[in-house]
Amino acid sequence: MPHLEFPVAPEEVGTSPTQFDELQPYFLNEEIWEDVTYRVCETLCVLSSKARCSAILRVQLLPEPFDASVKELTAICKVGWGREHAQRVKKEAELCRDKLSHLQVTDEGVTRVSVMEDCGQSLHVPLVECSPTFRYLACGMLVEVHKAGVIHNSFTERNVVVSVINSGPNKGEHVPVLVGFGEATEHQCPLNGNIQANGLRPERSDIMCDEIYYACMDSDFWRPAYIKVLDTEVPIAHATSVESLVQHAGYSNSNEMLKRRALLEARRAFSAHRD
Ligand SMILES: [Zn+2]
Repeated sequence: MPHLEFPVAPEEVGTSPTQFDELQPYFLNEEIWEDVTYRVCETLCVLSSKARCSAILRVQLLPEPFDASVKELTAICKVGWGREHAQRVKKEAELCRDKLSHLQVTDEGVTRVSVMEDCGQSLHVPLVECSPTFRYLACGMLVEVHKAGVIHNSFTERNVVVSVINSGPNKGEHVPVLVGFGEATEHQCPLNGNIQANGLRPERSDIMCDEIYYACMDSDFWRPAYIKVLDTEVPIAHATSVESLVQHAGYSNSNEMLKRRALLEARRAFSAHRD
């Protein structure tokens, strides 16, 4: 079983710590951890921090005592100090361990630390501006989390990390990894079946689950099911021509002025639809 040495003094996190607590971790994705004691020897980046409450850190882990045959690792540590915050970290870690199995946790006393594999950097642009493949993967990943019985409750760019595939046929490709399960809770997802990337946008009532529905809406996961011509929504199936749009929007027999406006609008909508 690997162990973890974490700085004793919270104020030393972010500097070069000198004294360490030895914590008893249970690591789940065993393939990246060796059966040694890892020491948090340096904080590379404070990803978020609430003074003396909690922090998320990118840290450098070295085997202690030093062992050249053991790979040093960078990892994400989530730390909670004091009963309330420690409990929160523990709950998050247990939820991920039990339901999602990709997060590791260590705990002792009132300092709880969860240690995750370092997957990459958070998204710096809105998800909707990412490539279609990346957006589809991100939403698909959220659906998998729900199917595993967990609602994330904070599906935002901050919690979508960009990871680069290191080997295999897709080497070099960017894929999303969902992190930040601090607000997550158990969830029985009412979504029955799957979501179809680039399919026609379903109704909210077809999806049933708000988190999935709005995540997909916000990231343009679906194609619009309707085209708006002035005040009327026309089902996309009728978007075969500008004239068809005008006709199905009910402006064919309108007065000259209204018909002209509908035609202009339909022309603009039709060319946007074809693009
Ligand atoms: Zn759900």
